Amino acid sequence: MENERRIAEHMPDESCDAAGKICESCDEAGKICDAYDETGKICDTAGKICDAVEKSCGEMCVRERIEALRQAVCGNGLSVHGEASANGDLPADQEASANGGPSADWEAPANGSSLADREASTDSSLSADQEAPANGGLSAVAGTSESGALKGDLWVSPDGLCALYQARSAGFCFGVRRAVDTVYEQIEKGIRPIYTYGPIIHNEVVVRDLEEKGVRVIQSVEELRRIRSGTVIIRSHGVGRDIYSIIESNGLRVVDATCPFVKKIHRIVEQKGKEGAEVIIIGSASHPEVQGIRGWSTGEVTVIETEEEARSFVPRTDKPLCVVSQTTFNLKKFHKFVEIMKGLRYHEFAVLNTICNATEERQTEARSIARLADCMIVIGGKHSSNTQKLYEICQKECSNTYFVQAFDDLNLRLVPFRGIVGISAGASTPNILIEEVSNLCRKTILSRC
Ligand code: SF4
Repeated sequence: MENERRIAEHMPDESCDAAGKICESCDEAGKICDAYDETGKICDTAGKICDAVEKSCGEMCVRERIEALRQAVCGNGLSVHGEASANGDLPADQEASANGGPSADWEAPANGSSLADREASTDSSLSADQEAPANGGLSAVAGTSESGALKGDLWVSPDGLCALYQARSAGFCFGVRRAVDTVYEQIEKGIRPIYTYGPIIHNEVVVRDLEEKGVRVIQSVEELRRIRSGTVIIRSHGVGRDIYSIIESNGLRVVDATCPFVKKIHRIVEQKGKEGAEVIIIGSASHPEVQGIRGWSTGEVTVIETEEEARSFVPRTDKPLCVVSQTTFNLKKFHKFVEIMKGLRYHEFAVLNTICNATEERQTEARSIARLADCMIVIGGKHSSNTQKLYEICQKECSNTYFVQAFDDLNLRLVPFRGIVGISAGASTPNILIEEVSNLCRKTILSRC
């Protein structure tokens, strides 16, 4: 009856959210305004479906979606911050929060602690299937293929109505992290002057910090030719053989931070060239990585970036063909181009898939969480194309997606105070920026619930 009375008294006005979200004017008891929830998507804070819309409610409520996410994360062998572990023990951080303040786990450094969590939970026998509840709504997430990508950190508020998911694949990939660490190691050793051949990473914050520490960026081959002393660090993209020759002939010291996955392609191309093969690189001809790969071949090289180029490809020789790929090239396109070129007759054809899955993993995880999230935060530099791409992927799945460069850009008033908030970040986003945003969200969003 009380519910009916509230519905009768509250007709829609400007103060209510017509989209069926929270109505502040009639939310005296912290409940959701039932009257305006015509779609039946909103559930009340007790996790029940409001009486008025019970019959039409076919959506998962916030609590159910968070539970489904929790199960997906646990099903991947990970533990959830702020909850009892699979063996029933309370994590130390939860015990620490018994004083009623923000629980310590919300402030724990996610990446540092999460690694320990992951290692500790590898023996978990829980699987998504075993955990799948009778409720069909929960299994809609926990048992899907996308749930396998959800291997990040999950924090759930004590009332179960707010969750923050930080993607495991957010930020630096292995190769970029290694390259950035290499520069800082050289700085710590007191070596001067230090140069990087091209910016070590597409992130203004990092490049500025390195500049302040005395690291200079060499922008061109001509500039490199003029330098006569110092250390040159090769970034993860790698360079061609000619760049090493210039460094050596100018008496410079080289520190090679080329990603091992890229280095492997250099070796393949060099070897196949020596064997007399004609090399085809599937990738973007203007990308530094492709230019570097090209620089290791001793024979004919063709770069193919588009389907049209694949279709019109004509071998320059009658020698065997060797196809490799730029590490960040789209896998589907790679297979498609290879299929097109395989139509060529009379040529021996060796295909080496040299695509690195770091980008694919990052995008898959971001897409998976964005599908469940009420709000997505994508962190990265405004000039980072992979962050832009990540933003587009998330935006497609979750219209409430925000692109931020640092936590200063984040307007928490735009972030809903219940539901799932997901965080991902581009390949060039430093961990410290991700942690700042994540910590801020944990302290504010989760503590609102
Ligand atoms: S994307 Fe892959 S190949 Fe490229 S730097 Fe990162 S780890 Fe290395």
